[in-house]
Amino acid sequence: MLSVKQAEEIILGLVPTLDVETVDLSSAAGRILAAPVTSELDFPHWDNSAMDGYAVRFADVQNCSETQPAVLSVIEEIPAGDRPQLTVQAGQAARIFTGACMPAGADTVVMQEQTRKEADRIAILAAPSSLGDFVRHRGSFYQAGTTLLPAGIALNAAEIAVLAALQCQQLSVYRRPRVAIFSTGDELVTPDRVLQPGQIVDSNNYALSVFVTQMGAIPISLGIVRDRPEELKTAIERAVTSADVVLSSGGVSVGDYDYVEQILAELEAKIHIRSVAVKPGKPLTVATFEGERERGGEGELLIPNSELRWRGLRSAHTPNSTLYFGLPGNPVSALVSCWRFVQPALRKLSGLADGWEPTFVRARSLQDLRSDGKRETYLWGKLRLVDGEFEFELAGGSHSSGNLINLAQTNGMAVLPVGQTSIAAGEPVRVLAIK
Ligand code: AMP
Ligand code: MG
Repeated sequence: MLSVKQAEEIILGLVPTLDVETVDLSSAAGRILAAPVTSELDFPHWDNSAMDGYAVRFADVQNCSETQPAVLSVIEEIPAGDRPQLTVQAGQAARIFTGACMPAGADTVVMQEQTRKEADRIAILAAPSSLGDFVRHRGSFYQAGTTLLPAGIALNAAEIAVLAALQCQQLSVYRRPRVAIFSTGDELVTPDRVLQPGQIVDSNNYALSVFVTQMGAIPISLGIVRDRPEELKTAIERAVTSADVVLSSGGVSVGDYDYVEQILAELEAKIHIRSVAVKPGKPLTVATFEGERERGGEGELLIPNSELRWRGLRSAHTPNSTLYFGLPGNPVSALVSCWRFVQPALRKLSGLADGWEPTFVRARSLQDLRSDGKRETYLWGKLRLVDGEFEFELAGGSHSSGNLINLAQTNGMAVLPVGQTSIAAGEPVRVLAIK
């Protein structure tokens, strides 16, 4: 059986590349840059003052002090947003405010706290520490034509602000991944139905849709599919042709009604993973559908190779593939598989250049943690930052993969590696942080 690390590496190697679209800055939040951005503007755009004070010539003030102030005549007042009109000559200064343009002739700013007003003149009471003090020079933060932001980064508040400041209004970003979701099982119903004996609510559909949305991808919910090979086949075909990634849950175990793998094989999918040494979440099927994409219309359509041959369409399309995750049906297993395996894949698929792995932190466990040591074991609980150090509180109740209830209000999964059967209370443990 594959280790968690091996499975993660295989999965990351299967992630296709999405194509690119152009968006306006106003709708670029959270998107991933697909090409480096450069600006034709310097930043700052012009020399300006970092303080409220006086723009002076360094030579006039470099030797002054409280007892021997340099007294300068004030020729002009320059608020932020104004264009200076005059040139500062020897013995002169201009009143200036934070962000205002430096006037010609001046090279240094003295903050107003180090001055004293004397009618229309100003006494400078302390020498600046160096030429150029409190001047933000044109291009000192960014030079026009150089790379402003590289490809493969997320556009969050700071990045969007930088792009706005540098007047980059149209951006090339990766298309958001489309993720088809469906649940398999004759026992499943939607939450609005009166439950008959043996029936349960398809909670995985909700869990997976929220997970996908939080990853910045577009969920396409295809509902519940009965445990019938023909129905499953139709559902998988539909999912594969409408999405970049498919998440199905259930039907990947060894039961008589577990048909997912069989149907994947019938549809000529390439199966890369059948199970992983992880608990919960051992039955995990990962497959790819190689095909070619047809552009235009409602997003894109993936035409499986088998059908392409039949349709003779091969040459006209961009090669690509759909990544299929057959997740275990147990609700906790399905989510753990998402956090551990689907999350890195979606991050990479989104176009992020790095940082695909889940976030792991070192925390002090408040309880004894136990595992049989045979598989990498994930135990859920609360991760808290206390006085700058993480602590992990194991969720009370059963850690059965079917116990969805105590998974609520947790935000971390303590990880016990293969071969480790316990971690004592007070000892450090590696914890996967959940958003
Ligand atoms: P399976 O992997 O299909 O054998 O399902 C394993 C367990 O998970 C069974 O107890 C199922 O009833 C349960 N289960 C499967 N699919 C779902 C779902 N979509 N929502 C909630 N529970 C499910
Ligand atoms: Mg089932």
